[in-house]
Amino acid sequence: MRSLRTRITGSILFLIGGAVLGTGIFVALLLKTSYIDSLTERLEKEGKLLAETVDWSASAKPGELTGKAEVYGRALGLRVALFDSAGNNLGDSTGVAHPGANPEVRKALDTGKPVPSVYRNEALHTAVPVIRDGRVVGAVWLTKSLTEVNRSLGQVWFSLILGLIIAYGIAGFAGSRIAGRVTRSLEEITQVAVDMAQKRLYRRVAVNGDDEVASLGRAINRMAYSLQQQVEELRRSERRLGSVIETMESGLLMVDATGRIRLANRAFEKMFGIPASDLRGKSFERLTHPYDLAVLIKECAESGLQMRREIHLYYPEERMLQAHLSPMWAEKSGIGVVVVFHDLTAIRRLEQLRRDFVANVSHELKTPVTSIRGFAETLLDGAMEDTRTLREFLTIILEESLRLERLVGDLLDLSRIESKQFRLELETVQVDELVRGAVKTMEDRIRAKGQTLTVEIPETFQAEVDVDRVRQILLNLLSNAMVYTPEGGAIRVRAERGDGDWILSVEDTGVGIPPEDLPRIFERFYRVDKARARHSGGTGLGLAIVKHLVEAHRGKLEVKSRLGEGTMFIMRFPLNQ
Ligand code: ADP
Repeated sequence: MRSLRTRITGSILFLIGGAVLGTGIFVALLLKTSYIDSLTERLEKEGKLLAETVDWSASAKPGELTGKAEVYGRALGLRVALFDSAGNNLGDSTGVAHPGANPEVRKALDTGKPVPSVYRNEALHTAVPVIRDGRVVGAVWLTKSLTEVNRSLGQVWFSLILGLIIAYGIAGFAGSRIAGRVTRSLEEITQVAVDMAQKRLYRRVAVNGDDEVASLGRAINRMAYSLQQQVEELRRSERRLGSVIETMESGLLMVDATGRIRLANRAFEKMFGIPASDLRGKSFERLTHPYDLAVLIKECAESGLQMRREIHLYYPEERMLQAHLSPMWAEKSGIGVVVVFHDLTAIRRLEQLRRDFVANVSHELKTPVTSIRGFAETLLDGAMEDTRTLREFLTIILEESLRLERLVGDLLDLSRIESKQFRLELETVQVDELVRGAVKTMEDRIRAKGQTLTVEIPETFQAEVDVDRVRQILLNLLSNAMVYTPEGGAIRVRAERGDGDWILSVEDTGVGIPPEDLPRIFERFYRVDKARARHSGGTGLGLAIVKHLVEAHRGKLEVKSRLGEGTMFIMRFPLNQ
């Protein structure tokens, strides 16, 4: 590729060279022509002058005429020769006898008129007849050599070539500088354009001046700036989209038209336990887990229809997912597929919990209702005639209805605590007074069961609590401790101040809770020993209520237990809510 710089410099050189050379040739030719013209005229005039003025009377003496020819020749700077009418040479300024009449002399003698100058053998020749008394008595022949003219012209040519070389040198240097200035800007613009193509959009052209190249530079800068803005905006929205995709709770999988996995977000990784980096760029057919996902993707890509399916996962943990498959038509070479996975596990679990709860409530209600109905029917069937039986059955009916009342009361309580409207009635109280007061209501019953009850409160302090609710917590835990602790056992309640919080614990030396049941005892209606618990009159809701109340106080509940040794419930409450 010939560079622009070379081309501009070449053009300048060509133009200047052509102009100088053309002018030189023209001047040289003009010079030569005008020189020859003026010489011709001079030669003819001088010939005429000589023909008029030469003393022909002396023609009898040839030696004298030779001397005259020499004088004339020297004076005029020409070669002068004189001829008689017969064409014989009478004298020559060169001193060399002319061999005979030449064509011009002959013509002049014949015509009796001057012969116009003739160019021959690098010289101009003319002959003028000498006329005396109307007779041609001889002729004057003049010759002017053009060697001098040619030498002068040679000097012109030499000056011309020298001038040309100098002009070339100057033109080359100046042309190169001018072209350099133009091309440097163009090279810079080109470099910026190349950088832009290679995504280096921060590069700019240093614009100087106000010419076309500067305008081009400014246009390129504007283009680079606008591109940079667009790319940054694109990147920003890409980042935004990326963070939405990465933080969304639904799993996302994107398969392109060639069947390669292009995207799998963090939620997908978590749901399926597969790192996204292991999937990216791989064929979706490699997705063997869950086994029917690849089949679904294939079906969606082939049909081009939206699909919705439930997928049951067992690994890394049991989950119920809903897969929503949509065809992606934007792909050029076919249909891609976007799969969004919604985790339905919690919803399904909640639904199950509700079903279980309804079943549990029905079951819990059914037992006392059946019992009441059975005893009432038996009494009506005649048993009421016997006063002892009547009293016994009525007592059972009363106990069962009390149990029903407790159950309904607990259920109402639980639903109230769980409702959004539930608020604690907070007040700052003396914790030791509160605890001792609550324990007092249980004291007699506990002692009646032959158990010992101790209260430990190392220091008095205040805390912000809902008095009734904390009392409810204590009563629930104490009644459990009483029920699940055999005779002779010990129950201990302890309240102490901690660092920014206070700790309340209820400990017994009872039957304890097996480790596998510990995580579930706070569930509604969960009982470790079902027969015993029901026999104890418990509703199975006590600990669920305790847990909710502790959490409502922004507290933490913990349970420690050893089978056969005892159980300890520990609660931590903030001193101020
Ligand atoms: P219940 O009314 O049956 O006592 P809770 O919700 O209060 O219901 O307790 C749930 C279960 O936890 C009980 O059935 C019992 O098996 C176990 N439990 C609770 N407190 C104790 C304790 N102090 N010692 C042993 N087991 C306990």
